Amino acid sequence: MQKVEVFQETSSDSLSLRVYEIGKKIGPTVYIQSSLHGAELQGTAVIHELILRLKSIEVSGTIRLAPAANPRSINQLSGPFTQGRFSPVTGDNWNRIFWDLANPAQKNNGGLDLKSFVSNHLNSDFLCIQKAYKNLIKEILKNKLCSEYGVSESKALAYTLQGLAADADYVLDLHTGSKAVRYLYVPIHCRESAKAFFMPCNLLVPLEFGNAFDEASFMPWVHLTNTFKEAGRNIPLQFESYTVELGSEETISLHDAKVDAERILNWLGSKGIIKYETPYSFPTPMACHLKDYKSYFAPSGGLMDFCVEPGDTINKGQILGNLLKLDKIGTDSAIVPIQSNAYGILVSRASSSNCHSGSEVFLVMENPEPL
Ligand SMILES: [Zn+2]
Repeated sequence: MQKVEVFQETSSDSLSLRVYEIGKKIGPTVYIQSSLHGAELQGTAVIHELILRLKSIEVSGTIRLAPAANPRSINQLSGPFTQGRFSPVTGDNWNRIFWDLANPAQKNNGGLDLKSFVSNHLNSDFLCIQKAYKNLIKEILKNKLCSEYGVSESKALAYTLQGLAADADYVLDLHTGSKAVRYLYVPIHCRESAKAFFMPCNLLVPLEFGNAFDEASFMPWVHLTNTFKEAGRNIPLQFESYTVELGSEETISLHDAKVDAERILNWLGSKGIIKYETPYSFPTPMACHLKDYKSYFAPSGGLMDFCVEPGDTINKGQILGNLLKLDKIGTDSAIVPIQSNAYGILVSRASSSNCHSGSEVFLVMENPEPL
């Protein structure tokens, strides 16, 4: 039986962030966090299941887990609902607060001096480069947290979580959609690796920064690879990070958590971190490029009768929902059908029928193809 240790426990106000570690510490490091958005709860149940399963599987490396990565957002209830997406203090989306610390433009903001690092390590072997780079990332984040001017609430969370992932080779950020299927944001260089998750839907994303945690995790390695290339040396881009979307918000299923854990264990097995291959059989994973991931917005305010559910294949012209317009109640023009523009797979829909004009109501993968 493998030991699970509490790796870190920090407290601010009455909220604590507890982080667990499991493994032998020799080999790659995997960092897995959940519930950065407070209403997105399934990942916490999945981490519980992963810890139970990993107690009896040998880990060649370290797996670090933060089951409730953003305690403030989980505690952010509004009536019966968790409003865990935005900071109530600053309005920041909790998954748009992260820092592209190796971007050359951030050098004068306490960021990483990539040019000096590359010239100092131009002839080092790749393992030394990885180790030194991880240490540097960790130190830069630590310095930010120790600013003598203090740190804002959202930045403190960003630096803390990025610090927990600083020495990782693999990062999984567990989220959910509103009312959604299981799907994965796959950085384009991880397309082959992502197959081992057997996620039904996969969005292939470019290696660009949009302030999200998965991007803040892989961007330092993208910058490193590019800067080495400019200096005349090719190094591999071996780092992988994914945003893993585990169904719908505001609910957990312990049964589904076992299946979700199977996907993650199978992927860990494919990376050689554990010896494991899932006995489950999953359908062929489908994928599309991010440009083909389309949002439908409500053309006016009203109440939506949803006609399709996440996972449904939809055809061009199919009615996705009927919007009941409040200003036309009791008339023949009260119902506005929302029709599909193209063939695709419904990944997610709004969880509430109550739509404002411009509310995002449907998210569809167009031009789907096997991953
Ligand atoms: Zn989320």
